[in-house]
Amino acid sequence: MASPARRAENQAGRLMTWRQGAVAATLTGSTLLGTLVACTPLPLADTQAPTSPYQQPAGAAQAAPRQAPAAVQACEAKLAAMGLNFRPVADRSEGEFCRVTGAVLLTDRPNQLDARLSPANPMMACLLAAEVATWRREDVEPAAREILGADVRQIDHLGVYACRNVNNQVDGRPSAHARAAAIDVAGFRLSDGRQITVAGDWHGDTPAARFLHQIRDQACSVFGTTLSPDYNAIHSDHLHLEAGLGRFCR
Ligand SMILES: [Zn+2]
Repeated sequence: MASPARRAENQAGRLMTWRQGAVAATLTGSTLLGTLVACTPLPLADTQAPTSPYQQPAGAAQAAPRQAPAAVQACEAKLAAMGLNFRPVADRSEGEFCRVTGAVLLTDRPNQLDARLSPANPMMACLLAAEVATWRREDVEPAAREILGADVRQIDHLGVYACRNVNNQVDGRPSAHARAAAIDVAGFRLSDGRQITVAGDWHGDTPAARFLHQIRDQACSVFGTTLSPDYNAIHSDHLHLEAGLGRFCR
C-alpha cells in the first residue's frame, strides 16, 4: 500500500513530481476509461498470465479512428514531458469485450537511460505506460542501485495485451490485459550481467529477494492493482501491474 509518507505528501499538495502527475492522470483517465469501456472490471485479482509471450491485437481486430479524450491527451503530454518516445495507436476492438482505447507504443531510443522493456515497444494503455515509466525511474532503477549495486538495463515482461477473461474463463469478467491496461513483469537484467527473476529470486533473504519485494511494495503506490507471488501460485513468476483506480496490493 502507499506509505504513510507518500499519502501525506499527496494530501499536502506539494510540488507535483511526475509520479504524482501520473497518479493524477491515472485517476482522471481511469474514470474516463470506466465510462468508455462498459466492460471495465473493478481492479481485483487477475489470476492468469497471458497465454503467449507478447500478444498484439490480431489482424482481424477492427481499428477505429483514434479518439483523444482530454485525459488521454493529458497522459500523452505527461509521457512527452518525461522525455519518453511513444506513438499513439488507433483505438481498436476485438471480440466481444477487448477494446483498447487511448493506447500508445512505448518505444526505445538509442542511448536512453531508462531500462528497456523486453519484448520491446509494447502497446499499452497510456495510463499504464505512464505508470510503468514512473515505477521504472523512481523505484526500480534506484532500488537496483541501492540494493544490488548495479543499473537495470532491461525489464523482461510476459506481455501486455491479451484478449481474454480473467483466468481464461469462458464466462467471467475481462482481464485488464484485454484493455492493454496491465503488464506482467518477469524479471530484470542488470548492467553487470546479472539476471533477476520473480520465479527464481522472490523467496529467501537475498539482495535479489529484497530488491523484488521492495519494488513490489513501491509498485503498490503507483499502480491500481499489484499482484505478486504473495498473492497466489499463478503469480509465482511475475508481477501483475495494472493501471486503474484503487489500491489492490498483494
Ligand atoms: Zn497479468
